[in-house]
Amino acid sequence: MRIVLLGAPGAGKGTQAKKISEKFGISHISTGDILRNELRNNTELGIKANEYMKDGRLVPDELIIEIIKEKIEKEGRQTQFLMDGFPRTLNQARKFDEMLASLGISLDKIINIDVAEDELVNRLTSRRVCHECSGICSINDFNSEDDAKCPSCGGRLYKRKDDDSEVIRERLKVYEKQTKPLIDYYSKGGLLFDINGLGTEKEIFERVLTLL
Ligand code: AMP
Repeated sequence: MRIVLLGAPGAGKGTQAKKISEKFGISHISTGDILRNELRNNTELGIKANEYMKDGRLVPDELIIEIIKEKIEKEGRQTQFLMDGFPRTLNQARKFDEMLASLGISLDKIINIDVAEDELVNRLTSRRVCHECSGICSINDFNSEDDAKCPSCGGRLYKRKDDDSEVIRERLKVYEKQTKPLIDYYSKGGLLFDINGLGTEKEIFERVLTLL
């Protein structure tokens, strides 16, 4: 199975991607997680990427394409994946198509998770991430920051630097301008499916499963 998850920041791609990849045993490839991990390890790539990430801008296509190439070419034709946060520009989508074509494979489905903008802002401002398992939750589900622990593993939570309200505004602008056009791009191939991203994690996952 080869799937791309589309959706604005805060639409729930990461949460659903984790559930889908666990259920179907396919690789969850999150370019955002890869870049944050590189930064944590102080690599040249991480430091360079952070210059863009901290302001809510997109990391240059060349760097992202290299990361994806390395991931999927290693497994060759057998590769099965769920892309979360890639592609994010038309150029990335075209390069990705070329990469898949050169391996003689193609995408099965593109799932677009649709959520209104005020809800996205609300979710991103209250989002917290687990240090241990990278699980995602909302601070609104706890009485205070001090009580907050990862609901899956009990790990410590942190707020992503780019979930600051100024940066959120920029990320949503970037999404509208650079990533939203991908909906049109993929709708031409007849593999794109929209799902309503409002509801509980479980409800949204059930909607996703009806497509897979
Ligand atoms: P995410 O975790 O998917 O919200 O990504 C966090 C940040 O990483 C984004 O705001 C971008 O700065 C960068 N990033 C992640 N994926 C990509 C991509 N495919 N292209 C460019 N930048 C990306």
